[in-house]
Amino acid sequence: MISHHIFKVLDLVDIQTILNGAQKGVSTSVSCKACTTLIGVIFSKWIPITIIANIITQICTLIYAKYVCEGYLNLFKAPLDEVRHKTRLTASEICAILLGNQCLAGEASNNVILHLTDIHLDTDYVPLTDPNCGAPYCCRHNNNNKVENQSQVNDKYAGLWGSYHCDGPKKLMDNLFASIDWQSIDWIYWTGDVTPHNTWEDTRDGTIRNSQIIIDYLKMFTNKTVISVFGNHISVPVGTFSPKKITGKLSTTYLYEEMTKQWSQWLPTEALSTFLIGGYYTMIIKPGFKIIVLNTNYCSRLNIWTYYDPIDPDNQLNWLYNELELAETAGQLVHIVGHIPPDNRECTQSWLYNYMAIVERFSDTIVGQFFGHTHYDEFRIYYSNNDCNKVIGFAILSPSVTSFDALLNLNPAYRIIKCYENGVIQDIDTYAMDLRRANSEPDRTPDWPFEYSMANDYSMRFTNRDFDRHIENIKRDNYYLQLFYSRYTRFSINENQYCNTDCKTKIISDIMTCNAFTNYPKPITSVG
Ligand SMILES: [Zn+2]
Ligand SMILES: [Zn+2]
Repeated sequence: MISHHIFKVLDLVDIQTILNGAQKGVSTSVSCKACTTLIGVIFSKWIPITIIANIITQICTLIYAKYVCEGYLNLFKAPLDEVRHKTRLTASEICAILLGNQCLAGEASNNVILHLTDIHLDTDYVPLTDPNCGAPYCCRHNNNNKVENQSQVNDKYAGLWGSYHCDGPKKLMDNLFASIDWQSIDWIYWTGDVTPHNTWEDTRDGTIRNSQIIIDYLKMFTNKTVISVFGNHISVPVGTFSPKKITGKLSTTYLYEEMTKQWSQWLPTEALSTFLIGGYYTMIIKPGFKIIVLNTNYCSRLNIWTYYDPIDPDNQLNWLYNELELAETAGQLVHIVGHIPPDNRECTQSWLYNYMAIVERFSDTIVGQFFGHTHYDEFRIYYSNNDCNKVIGFAILSPSVTSFDALLNLNPAYRIIKCYENGVIQDIDTYAMDLRRANSEPDRTPDWPFEYSMANDYSMRFTNRDFDRHIENIKRDNYYLQLFYSRYTRFSINENQYCNTDCKTKIISDIMTCNAFTNYPKPITSVG
C-alpha cells in the first residue's frame, strides 16, 4: 500500500530535469526541488528497500536497458541501504553534492524551533508487563501476566522502550533528548502534558514532580529559551483549571505559583501579571515577532470549571484581542502557542466562536498557531463564522512524544519548525522513532530519523490557500489520504492503518472548524 503513495508523490517529480542537471553539472531551483523530493523518498528510513529498488529501476530504465539496471541494482542495493540508514546529511545537502551548491540556497532558516508536545512521562513504567491488563491504563507492577524475559516481547507485552498502549518510560526520554540536535535550535515550544494516563491516581505532588523532571532534562540539554504551556495533564484532577475568583483548596493558583518557580528561568517578569491569573502570557524573542501563549484548558468542555464560567474565563480572549492589536500596531507578526487545539470537539461553542472571530480579525498578523493534545500529526483549518467556505487561518498540531492512544499505534515523535526572522513558516520537519523495531532489538540504541518535510512532501508554503488545497486533496484523492494517515500515526503499521470511510469522515470533520453555533459540537473522545 505504501508503494502506491510513494509512486503518487513521485509522479510530481520531474526525473528528466534531475538527470539533465546531473549530466551537465547545472543546478536550477527546479532541478534542486525535484532532486530534494526524490532523495527525500529514497533516503527515507521509513520506506522499505524493496520499494526503493523498484523506484530506482524505473528511473534507471530511462537511460539503460532493464538488464543493465538490474545488474547495477544488485551491486549497489546493499551499500545504498546502509548509507541511507546511517547518513546525517539532509536531502538538500545530498542534492548539493550531486547537482551543485545552488541546492543549498534558501536552505538556511532564520529561526529553528523545536516543538515537543505530550511527553506524558511514566516513571513507574515496567517493561515485560501486560499493556492490556483490563484497567484504563497498564504497564505497571501491579499488572498480571508479567513475562519472564525480553525475548518474549512483542506487541502483547510492554517493551523496553515503551508500548503502543502506554506512555513512555524514562529510558525513552533519555534517548529522545540525546537524539535531538540541540546546537541547531534557537528556542523550544514545550506544549505540555507531563503525567501518564492513570489519571484516577493523580496527585498534585506527582504531577509537579513529573513536570520538574521534564524541565530538568531541558535545562540539562539546552540553554535556549523554552516557551512552556499548560497541558490538561498537569492539573489535579486532570484538566481542571479554575477561574481566578475561586480561592482556597480548589483554586488552580497553586499550579501557577509552582510553575512560576519551575519556569522562572524563561518567564519574563512582565509575563507574571497574566501568568498568575490564568497561565497565559506573551514573550518577545526577536524584534518584529511576538509569541502569545494561551491556556486553552479554559475552552475545554472537559474542564469542570467551564460549567461555572463558560464565556471567557479570566478575560483571556479579551486579553488575546488586545495583545494582537498591540502587535498589529507595532508591525509585529505572531505565533499563538497552546495545548488543546481550539475546535468543535474540545471547546465550548462560545469560546470557540469568539476565538475564531479574533483569528479572522487578525488573520494578517497571526502567521502560525501550534498546539498538541490529540497526539496525532494533523492540523485544523479555521473558516469564517459568517462563511464556511472562507479560510481565515490554520493551526498545526504536532505529533506526541508519547505512543499512547486508545485505538491506534503511535510512534514517538518531535517536530522542527523553520521560520523566517519575522515568524513566517518556511518548513516543518518531523522526526520519529520506530517503537516496534526498537523493542524488537533491545540491545541497539534507537534513533529518531527524519520522517518528512511538509514543505517538500505537500508542496506547502503555509498559507491559508495551501491548507485549503491540502484538505481538498485529502478529501478527493485516496492515495493522498492514505499517505496523510500513515504520517498521522508516524508509519506505525497495524490493522487499523488503512483509513476507511469512517476514519476519513472523522479526520476531515476534526480538521474543518467553522461556526461553533451552527456546526454543533462534536462528541468528546479525547484522552490527550
Ligand atoms: Zn492533552
Ligand atoms: Zn496528551
